[in-house]
Amino acid sequence: MKQPAPTHAVDMLIVGAGFAGLYMLHKARGMGLDALVLEAAPGVGGTWYHNRYPGARVDIQSMEYSFSFDEALQQQWRWSERYAPQPELLRYANHVADRFGLRDGIRLSTRMAGAHFDEPSQRWTVQAESGESWSARFLVMASGPLSSPNLPDFAGLKDFAGPVYHTANWPHEPVDFSARRVAVIGTGSSAVQAIPIIARQASELTVFQRTAAYAAPAHNGPLDREFEARIKADYAGYRARNRRMHGGFGSLLPPNPVSALAASADEREAAFEQRWKIGGFAILGAFNDLLLNEQSNALVAEFVRGKIRAIVKHPDTAQLLSPTHTIGCKRLCVDSGYYDTFNRPNVRLVDINQAPIERITSKGLRTSGGEFEFDALVLATGFDAMTGTMMRLDLRGRDGLRIQEKWHAGPLNYLGLGIAGFPNLFNIAGPGSTSAFTNVIVAIEHHVDWIADCIAYLDAHGLHTIEASEQAEAAWAEHVNAAARRTVFLSCNSWYLGANIEGKPRMFMPLAEGFPRYADHCAQVAHDGYVGFVLQ
Ligand SMILES: Cc1cc2nc3c(=O)[nH]c(=O)nc-3n(C[C@H](O)[C@H](O)[C@H](O)COP(=O)(O)OP(=O)(O)OC[C@H]3O[C@@H](n4cnc5c(N)ncnc54)[C@H](O)[C@@H]3O)c2cc1C
Repeated sequence: MKQPAPTHAVDMLIVGAGFAGLYMLHKARGMGLDALVLEAAPGVGGTWYHNRYPGARVDIQSMEYSFSFDEALQQQWRWSERYAPQPELLRYANHVADRFGLRDGIRLSTRMAGAHFDEPSQRWTVQAESGESWSARFLVMASGPLSSPNLPDFAGLKDFAGPVYHTANWPHEPVDFSARRVAVIGTGSSAVQAIPIIARQASELTVFQRTAAYAAPAHNGPLDREFEARIKADYAGYRARNRRMHGGFGSLLPPNPVSALAASADEREAAFEQRWKIGGFAILGAFNDLLLNEQSNALVAEFVRGKIRAIVKHPDTAQLLSPTHTIGCKRLCVDSGYYDTFNRPNVRLVDINQAPIERITSKGLRTSGGEFEFDALVLATGFDAMTGTMMRLDLRGRDGLRIQEKWHAGPLNYLGLGIAGFPNLFNIAGPGSTSAFTNVIVAIEHHVDWIADCIAYLDAHGLHTIEASEQAEAAWAEHVNAAARRTVFLSCNSWYLGANIEGKPRMFMPLAEGFPRYADHCAQVAHDGYVGFVLQ
């Protein structure tokens, strides 16, 4: 297809101004590259710009979920809470944009519509929805692993008379639910954070649950200043130790190196209890095989169900809130009073697994079990994760190869970074990398640094393009699959597998081998002259 001539030329075009896009821009400028970010939203911050629902906050501690690339930044920035809330994370993203003078390299409110690889010039022609276009040597997709909200196609949704909100697309002005009857559909991470707060405001809250969620307490609170000072006394060392942890965080509390099956019942109970008191993801490290072995997993799952039974007073509600799948198979939620919320007299739980939603009506919704009325509807229905954003684009590589064709059976790539047929295109924190299984900022910094080194290598060797080979891609797909098979992650229907989206191919998308092994692998590939990639 003939394209209009691009209006501007840059060395690197970056899609997205979340943490990935911000750091990529800073890094590219440091290398002397002329780089430009296109961001669909009117502000920077990505996830933390869009997800403003009540209770939105990080579930990895802020001293860990933050940039490490600049010592002065990490020393000077002060988090207020153990787990930063969304407004603070958004302030942090804006601070980074200002501090490093990035704003003049970011085009806000500019959605990239597509990009076509132009063979004669060996460059990408990138089109924005506005009609503008750019020619770029490198195209970096920093468009986010969780940036395309899943809007389920409920019959009658348009008929609902009241407001409908999606957690990932929350209004910027405050939403007041007081004296209103509210419904929440979904019980994943966002719902688990939002429900306790909505329940305190609303006159009535009805939660429609398809699959019960495991949630561990955050024990959030003000950040302990002594702890902060201790970390900051050797922040670089702390970051380095975290990078050697499976998920890129948690070096102060390494997993217990013992199998749950080797411990006595009392020892297990004590270990689970100790980690439950610490909170967050700590419980999944109580033994070294909880995410590897279904028998071990069943022990910790039952421990958490016991907690649910102890917290939730009504036995039927407790039963319904108790998940039956393997724990950790879907992302573990980190909560502040989630289960206890169901003890409130104004909250009820409706099982839409047994009695599915038939349609939304003007006054509420109808399931196969009955009619429900409410004034406002909250969709906490998650994301078309990891591939959704790229698959919505008109992205075409060599010979007009479309991304939808390339990925029709799943997101083939090499190292998660490159795609055969799409030269000089890099993907940050997407499928095929540890992405959502890590502290994502660690994953982002690693990818940006790797991309920068790769470009420096190309330039040093007088090369123009790099692209994954098809053989390396096929081997990598098997590597990603094999890593998942060694875990419990294939034992349930999760968004990691694409199972939350109708018609999406089932392929396990993130790499479950742990960040250190993955980072070593990427380093080895670079050291060996980018073996597995075709360089020209
Ligand atoms: C509610 C929520 C909580 C989370 N909590 C954690 C956590 O505790 N720990 C953790 O490690 N991770 C967490 N994550 C994952 C989070 O997405 C990452 O940590 C990180 O913010 C990703 O940054 P990013 O820059 O890669 O992507 P994003 O922050 O998603 O930014 C991508 C940007 O690209 C833009 N974009 C997309 N398509 C286009 C286009 N076509 N044109 C122009 N712009 C485009 C989007 O508007 C967005 O601003 C959470 C995610 C969500 C949704």
